[in-house]
Amino acid sequence: MSSNPETLALHAGWRADPSFGSVAVPIHQTTSYQFQDTGHAARLFALEELGNIYTRIMNPTVDVLEKRIAALEGGVAALALGSGQAATTFSVLNLCEAGDNIVSSTDLYGGTWNLFANTLKQFGVEVRFVDPADPEAFARATDARTRAYYAETLPNPKLQVFPIAEVAAIGRKLGVPLIMDNTAAPVICKPLDLGAAVVMHSTTKWIGGHGTSIGGIVVDGGNFDWEAHAERFPTLNKPDPSYHGAVWTQAVKPLGPIAYIIRMRTCLLRDIGAPMAPMNAFLSLQGLETLPLRMERHCANALKVAAWLAEHKAVVKVIHPSLMRDEYKRRADAALKGGYGSLIGFELKAGAEAGRKFIEALKMFYHVANIGDARSLAIHPATTTHSQLSVEEQAASGVTPGYVRLSIGIEHIDDIIADLSQALETATT
Ligand code: PLP
Repeated sequence: MSSNPETLALHAGWRADPSFGSVAVPIHQTTSYQFQDTGHAARLFALEELGNIYTRIMNPTVDVLEKRIAALEGGVAALALGSGQAATTFSVLNLCEAGDNIVSSTDLYGGTWNLFANTLKQFGVEVRFVDPADPEAFARATDARTRAYYAETLPNPKLQVFPIAEVAAIGRKLGVPLIMDNTAAPVICKPLDLGAAVVMHSTTKWIGGHGTSIGGIVVDGGNFDWEAHAERFPTLNKPDPSYHGAVWTQAVKPLGPIAYIIRMRTCLLRDIGAPMAPMNAFLSLQGLETLPLRMERHCANALKVAAWLAEHKAVVKVIHPSLMRDEYKRRADAALKGGYGSLIGFELKAGAEAGRKFIEALKMFYHVANIGDARSLAIHPATTTHSQLSVEEQAASGVTPGYVRLSIGIEHIDDIIADLSQALETATT
């Protein structure tokens, strides 16, 4: 199979249904699967043979999505989940017990921030937040109970690309895997090639691409030696009482370097649930098939919008990796290939009230709390997503009163700019 994303997105993990010849991936809307005989059932439960048992654990439609995204990211296997939040939660809980910690970048999606700062704490997992401006901060925050590093490739609102290769290298020296949320940079960034061990996505965004389905996925890079650091990873190296004392790094050796993702499926998905529904996997596959093509247009349009906004008299600042300088431009160029993503932040000279008016004046852009849709989207964070934060907290997270976030879609560039132009005019006169 080719390693080109355009081809993988259409072909990886599926070649015409053997029963009926269906070319599109069928929706296997079933909860359970008929066993061939009692021996077959016993072998499946004992993991002596891999196969379908029950849709909470695996499903043939979901399986194609998992194989296809694993191939696109260059990983060995993947696990799809009911949402991006579930994917983040599983990616961390798969390695952590009460008393353990992870080190995370401060630049995070708000839902992830809440999960890390509050909810994981209730389960005894500590998250140590460090500023990604200094990669060495990850090393300084590491101790014997650190189980992973966590960061987003292209975090908004700052849109400063994370130093993936630098932090992955620090982690590999200390025996700590880097988990990357690559939601905002599918196709244009491959964190596993830069040294990350695990990638997750909210498939709700660019992968699904059409605003139809919530979903998430975790991809195992198969490139981290969990056995070499056995003391650090007891969940993968100690006998698991919930699975007849299986030691995951040993039990799955004949199947390849998939201990991390198999344990996530056989234990966390079995016990906590949160599977992706077959229908959502089907809809996400429809999006995935055109993802490389859409990303090209998303990125090309965003590049033009960023340059146009930078020249506009009502705008004081435009945030987009293409316009950054020095270290942040270097990081963007090192990690992103083929485009700088489709998120743009900009600040209106006239402040919060103008930001509110601008949003209300948009005619084609949708005003929604989402990103990564094929349609162009906009939001004014100071009065919505970040309104519960103090002005100081907003500033620390990169949100100023006049800040507007755009997720540029794949409409014709002239129509995108025409809508922005008339809304800026309305907001500032
Ligand atoms: N990661 C990022 C970067 C996101 O933007 C989001 C949602 O906005 C998530 C994770 C969570 O994904 P979901 O909404 O699918 O749970």
